[in-house]
Amino acid sequence: MTPPGEPLLDSPDGEVEKPRKRYTLDDMGFNEVPKKYRRFYRRWDGPSDELAPNEALCPVCKVVVRSTRELRPGDRIYCMACLTRLRVVAAGGGRLEAVTEY
Ligand SMILES: [Zn+2]
Repeated sequence: MTPPGEPLLDSPDGEVEKPRKRYTLDDMGFNEVPKKYRRFYRRWDGPSDELAPNEALCPVCKVVVRSTRELRPGDRIYCMACLTRLRVVAAGGGRLEAVTEY
């Protein structure tokens, strides 16, 4: 079960999942969403800010969306800061990127 507020909405259909690494999220003081969702977001520090495997940058508002599970290409996530649905894509070099989903 997905915990309430978890930004990871959905993973690709029919995918046989290898176990995903799980992450414990700390509240990093992101105050643009209600308190109980704060741990799922953090501010982005710019291009030198390395994202963890459970993090994706929202291309719309440049906020880092964080999941309690490792993210994979095809995952759908939700940015509560700007109310945008995003899809995780491979960006090359093992990096992940989030793109807007319509
Ligand atoms: Zn956003």
